[in-house]
Amino acid sequence: MPELPEVETTRAGLAPHLEGRRVLAATLRRPDLRWPIPSEIQDTLPGQRIDAVRRRAKYLLLDTAAGSALLHLGMSGSLRVLPSDTPVTAHDHVDLLLDGGGSGARRVLRFNDPRRFGCLLWQPAGEVHPLLADLGPEPLSADFDGDYLFARSRGRSAPVKAFLMDQRVVVGVGNIYVAEALFAAGISPLRAAGKVSRERYALLAAAVKAILAYAIARGGTTLRDFISPDGAPGYFEQELSAYGRGGEPCPKCGRPLKQAAIAQRTTVWCPHCQR
Ligand SMILES: [Zn+2]
Repeated sequence: MPELPEVETTRAGLAPHLEGRRVLAATLRRPDLRWPIPSEIQDTLPGQRIDAVRRRAKYLLLDTAAGSALLHLGMSGSLRVLPSDTPVTAHDHVDLLLDGGGSGARRVLRFNDPRRFGCLLWQPAGEVHPLLADLGPEPLSADFDGDYLFARSRGRSAPVKAFLMDQRVVVGVGNIYVAEALFAAGISPLRAAGKVSRERYALLAAAVKAILAYAIARGGTTLRDFISPDGAPGYFEQELSAYGRGGEPCPKCGRPLKQAAIAQRTTVWCPHCQR
């Protein structure tokens, strides 16, 4: 599944090709993805100019004066900007035809999603879509730091891992990144969120920011279903310290890493180095 770094990589790859271009038409080859595609995509979006391509959590927003097309890549979605005469292949569910942006040729933004857990929705100008309404701060923003996590976690008995993966607490810190950040900060994923000190939360917030920024700089992790807009995979996965390494030696102490399920998600940590 694309995580925040892959979505940010997608955003950065698409923005130069989309910003300033006008949507001429929307072609839907099926009426729904994860949810029905709303009528505004065909009725309101054509004729609008894309002013900005933004990311919020793992959603992409194509901002226009009338509102924003809201996209999620789900488990297996990809977005590519192609010459407008590129033949359609399997699972190419949506095309947005774009003008040439001046003297250039027409292009098409093509949404391919074999498993159809992705979505294409509409957020009217001046409104916040319900999917975005209750989200916590962006992990790379100044609003997310140790003081924030400390204040937000008091009285919480849930494991710190589940707390950090709660999208109302902070968005986009998926299973890979929470495992790596907890390892770097030396915090056990099982510890109650309300029992982690302010100082240790400062280490954890810094670790989350560092690992996400590093993953974005490297183009995200290499995940089977993910294709970046330029077709190049990232090479981050082989550098992970904990995630996917259950039973292997801890990179810090050499003792075997433990693996167990927490909140239905596989968790790997070092019981010696993480307390
Ligand atoms: Zn260790």
